[in-house]
Amino acid sequence: MPDYQTHEHDVLVVGAGGAGLRAAIEASAGGVSVGLICKSLLGKAHTVMAEGGIAAALANVDDRDNWKVHFADTMRGGQYVNNWRMAELHAKESPDRVRELESWGAVFDRTGDGRILQRNFGGHRYPRLAHVGDRTGLEMIRTLQDHGIHQGIDVHMECTILRLLTDGTRVVGAFGYERERGRFKLFRAKAIVLATGGIGRAYKITSNSWEYTGDGHTLAYDAGADLMDMEFVQFHPTGMVWPPSVRGILVTEGVRGEGGVLKNSEGRRFMFDDIPENYRAQTADDAEEGWRYTQGDKSARRPPELLTRDHVSRCIMREVKAGRGSPHGGVFLDISWIKSRVPNGAEHIRKKLPSMYHQFKQLADLDITEEPMEVGPTTHYVMGGVRVDSDTQMSTVPGLFAAGECAAGINGANRLGGNSLSDLLVFGKRAGEFAAKYARDAPAGAINQDEVEDTARVALEPFERGSAGEGPYQVQYALQEMMQDLVGIVRKESEVRSALDRLQELRARAARVGVGGHREYNPGWHAALDLHSLLTVSEAVARCAIERKESRGGHFRDDYPDKDKDYSTFNLIARKGANGAMQVIRAPIPTMPDELRRIIDEMK
Ligand SMILES: Cc1cc2nc3c(=O)[nH]c(=O)nc-3n(C[C@H](O)[C@H](O)[C@H](O)COP(=O)(O)OP(=O)(O)OC[C@H]3O[C@@H](n4cnc5c(N)ncnc54)[C@H](O)[C@@H]3O)c2cc1C
Repeated sequence: MPDYQTHEHDVLVVGAGGAGLRAAIEASAGGVSVGLICKSLLGKAHTVMAEGGIAAALANVDDRDNWKVHFADTMRGGQYVNNWRMAELHAKESPDRVRELESWGAVFDRTGDGRILQRNFGGHRYPRLAHVGDRTGLEMIRTLQDHGIHQGIDVHMECTILRLLTDGTRVVGAFGYERERGRFKLFRAKAIVLATGGIGRAYKITSNSWEYTGDGHTLAYDAGADLMDMEFVQFHPTGMVWPPSVRGILVTEGVRGEGGVLKNSEGRRFMFDDIPENYRAQTADDAEEGWRYTQGDKSARRPPELLTRDHVSRCIMREVKAGRGSPHGGVFLDISWIKSRVPNGAEHIRKKLPSMYHQFKQLADLDITEEPMEVGPTTHYVMGGVRVDSDTQMSTVPGLFAAGECAAGINGANRLGGNSLSDLLVFGKRAGEFAAKYARDAPAGAINQDEVEDTARVALEPFERGSAGEGPYQVQYALQEMMQDLVGIVRKESEVRSALDRLQELRARAARVGVGGHREYNPGWHAALDLHSLLTVSEAVARCAIERKESRGGHFRDDYPDKDKDYSTFNLIARKGANGAMQVIRAPIPTMPDELRRIIDEMK
């Protein structure tokens, strides 16, 4: 029998980023006891890294904006395989969620007349991103934490959940370990909200931090829930490429929103070369019009640098492959040129993009007010995640909810920048509300001790193998390299199939990893425990990538480079079959109500 501490909550929220905090606040407001768990320290979630802003049709900068335009933009960006009901709720509710955040103390940048300032971002027709310089996530986390701390939420920091416990029909708890002492912890709960963020660490080049190993996706999958849209991984077009130690770190889209332009080694703005048909009518004809758009001219259309991320990433890859890239395998992103247009240009850039200025100065010894940056695509976000009910966020497992990046639906094949932070607020709130409601109606469930013992035993196996086993980091690096090469930005069947073979080998290696030392703050042990999640989400991405024989959004197939109408009618679902193997099935997309269809048609 393993040694463990036991905690009991009505609602347990796993993950303390924007989605988890918002869910915890709402559940607590629903009058139930709430526990909130995070893998690192409170406040260090991914959300804190968010730079550009929160998308919400407040219409403060352009009064033509409203929820309908936001809805149509989100659906177009997602290439119409989004859960349309989630896209509708998100567009309708995000303005209230942003105003609520403001009423809780968030200090946004301001318009001249004192309202929340909004900036341009890729794929959004009008300036829509409420922001705080390029440190919006920090303000959001600070505000949610300050507010949440007064709600009586119990926080368990540096605690990693390894398994969800079920009674055969619904979730009844979770089992994990605390990093500091390495002790096991059992959480009894009537409802659980997963808010664990993304999977970026399955790839070698990523903007994601060490925590994003797809744990929530895997916890849900292992508990019998469906994963949806896992083939859709977002490669953000602008990550740092030099020096090597910082490769992948994000360069916010806000740089392009403020007038930054992409150029190849010949000095040409290559984004004008390839404008997708469905965006042509909304894209500037020339550089002059694009510049006027970034400066708020309502009669101008957006520059092609602000097309959707999937498209911009592929254009960059094309330039690099054609030998027109920058010296270190990217292209040039230049914001310094705006000094010729803006009074006190250098100061203006530093004010608008303070983090970018410091990031490049400190990490690359480059002054972005003087020189162009070198940038290239970086694994950034996963559109795929736990399949949830659009209104309640409950998964297919009763009592198990998911919100934020680890849930699927709202983004379809591609997420628009800024739509994640608003997603966290809108669906975090909903998940918390409905989890509390579920918990109020549900009795406490019985914990299956066999599940607990089995999880503890498997978790400790790497210590038994000790130095006789392979190091966990070797397996992790091999996996990241393989996913980058074989299931990356451009995919083809033969490569993805060989990725599946390699995943089997890596799984066998993961079962043989060994670690030394003791259980207190042992990063090698933690890396060993993360492998199961990394392998599971990688397999889901690869299996769904094979099944989708077309190119759409974040999923680009070299062997099927076009979009195929037949693939617009369903989502792909990965679930554990009766024999324990992963199955991929097609789930038809429900018919969209006429009212929403009309909105999309009107906005085309
Ligand atoms: C550099 C960067 C900039 C970005 N900028 C923007 C932007 O401007 N606008 C925008 O909309 N989006 C942006 N994004 C995306 C956005 O920040 C994320 O999608 C979003 O913050 C995810 O929030 P979340 O609440 O779902 O999860 P996260 O904020 O990722 O939090 C996940 C939480 O889960 C915990 N956790 C994970 N696994 C476990 C486990 N096994 N046990 C216990 N706890 C666990 C973690 O510790 C953490 O607390 C950006 C992303 C990055 C990386």
